[in-house]
Amino acid sequence: MAASLLMSETLAVDGSVLIVGGGLAALRCAQGLRDQGFIGSITMVGDEPHLPYDRPPLSKQVATGKWPVEKTNLVDEERRAALRVDFVLGTRAVHLDPDRREVTFDDGSKRVADRVVIATGATPRRLATGADVVAHYVRTYENGLQLASSLSGPPKRVVVIGAGFIGAEVASSARSLGHEVTVLETLAVPLSTVLGEQLGSRCAALHERNGTTLLTGVTIESIEAGDDGTTLVALLDGTTHVADVLVIGIGVVPNTDWLNESGIELDNGVVVDGALFATDTVMAIGDVARFAWTRLGATSLTRIEHWQVAADHGQFAATGLLRGRAFSPAIQLLPYFWSDQYGLKLQMLGRPELTDEVNIVLEEEDGKLLALFRRGEALSAVFAISKPKQLMGYRQLLLDGCLYDEALKLLNA
Ligand code: FAD
Ligand code: NAP
Repeated sequence: MAASLLMSETLAVDGSVLIVGGGLAALRCAQGLRDQGFIGSITMVGDEPHLPYDRPPLSKQVATGKWPVEKTNLVDEERRAALRVDFVLGTRAVHLDPDRREVTFDDGSKRVADRVVIATGATPRRLATGADVVAHYVRTYENGLQLASSLSGPPKRVVVIGAGFIGAEVASSARSLGHEVTVLETLAVPLSTVLGEQLGSRCAALHERNGTTLLTGVTIESIEAGDDGTTLVALLDGTTHVADVLVIGIGVVPNTDWLNESGIELDNGVVVDGALFATDTVMAIGDVARFAWTRLGATSLTRIEHWQVAADHGQFAATGLLRGRAFSPAIQLLPYFWSDQYGLKLQMLGRPELTDEVNIVLEEEDGKLLALFRRGEALSAVFAISKPKQLMGYRQLLLDGCLYDEALKLLNA
């Protein structure tokens, strides 16, 4: 029985893998397969015209003009040769037949492989605007280039809609270039859905301290073109904000449209098990995957939109592909994100729930702080603003599942 399972569920070392999507998760999956001795064919098909590149610099170093956008490339010639991946660029998947492991593309071509990995990421949520409005969304290489071009030159009025990660980072980048920045956010406290109200307020204070105007609890009424290339953002309270540059960062939606007729379970992402399998032969990873994640004794379907998780998913999926679904344990993951804002580094290890108790255990006048999250008796997450050493001191404890009281002892050690 075990032998026949092994035959049917294990990918042969010289088999074939088709990865749909050409981002970080896809690249890390291909890399992981090669690192683990896979000698078969790997095809990576992405709809962008670029080899995999890094998105975090787009709202930071690229936006401020510190880096040319080319510096975000993740695959140079040497790496490309070592990976032996058949990169197919500018080609969009439009359908998956999971039983045949066959993907159809927008040029009419079809590809079949022993295993299919879905790594199609996410797309910015859009706001309706009037005709002729130029709104920047920040997701792609081209978006980064266009934003950098708009932010170059003399001071301008920059209006940012959304005070999440994109909004905060773009506001910070624009302020560092001397622009007048206004951020419009629907929540009463920015980032409160991620960090809770107490820490969200600390993040809001960073905007105010650095000369950015932050307006919270607002509702956008309309976005129309004004005179001389400006944009008029009207709010429900009757006020209007004039933008020379408009940036919108109001969240993302997972790229699953192409899977609508596939029979694969979709629910705010591709639903996969704890080992990232949707079926015995189809996996999903990165921003697009909603995976069964077990943490502190509870399992929930979770989709995490951060760099380290996409990278870890890719690595983990490579092992899962080679072992097979029946032999793959659930993913062991310690979520991590960072965000660079106003010269400070925001970092989180773990993933708190809004019901967790949060305690700021260190705080300095310049905004630096360390906060511990408690769920029951356990330490559930640690958040820091520019306290990287202290934060990383909790990494192993979080991985081991430590008690909150033990975490406090580390602080006093
Ligand atoms: P993606 O990187 O989105 O890659 C998916 C690829 O699949 C894309 O190229 C997409 O075009 C392609 N695709 C989509 N549909 C199809 C289709 N039907 N057929 C073929 N190809 C398709 N995280 C942090 O932790 N810290 C940061 O500081 C940080 N900064 C960020 C800054 C920006 C501006 C952005 C946009 C994101 C940032 N992130 C950050 C988040 C991080 O970059 C993402 O979590 C990560 O890129 C997700 O990788 P992915 O491979 O799952 O998806
Ligand atoms: P986000 O972090 O989800 O934040 C979007 C913010 O916009 C939320 O606060 C949201 O409030 C608000 N919003 C929604 N609709 C609005 C509206 N109509 N008007 C005003 N505000 C509105 O998403 P994002 O900042 O757009 O980032 C996009 C993706 O890139 C995410 O996956 C993010 O994780 C990733 N990213 C990560 C980093 C990082 O980790 N450092 C940096 C950049 C980007 P509600 O919650 O009420 O909807």
